[in-house]
Amino acid sequence: MGALNAIFSSKSLLGIYRDVGTCDTCGLCSKICPVQIDVEKAKLGRIDGKECIMCLECVAACHTSALKISLKR
Ligand code: SF4
Ligand code: SF4
Repeated sequence: MGALNAIFSSKSLLGIYRDVGTCDTCGLCSKICPVQIDVEKAKLGRIDGKECIMCLECVAACHTSALKISLKR
């Protein structure tokens, strides 16, 4: 778990991005997030890394595969 946290911490090069063209704004990702991040409305498609604990629940829940793990832009 510690290693995963290091990989996905706010200083990591990795982050979660929402493809706004694929997202159908169903809101499931926002509902499932344990730290109440409004994933569905992430600005410019990027999830705020400071609050995100990178549990990846939102990625697993997304039925359109609109959420991706990628290098931070
Ligand atoms: S679960 Fe996926 S499709 Fe639904 S709002 Fe979130 S990113 Fe968009
Ligand atoms: S990875 Fe977890 S904490 Fe981060 S936005 Fe998705 S559900 Fe929320």
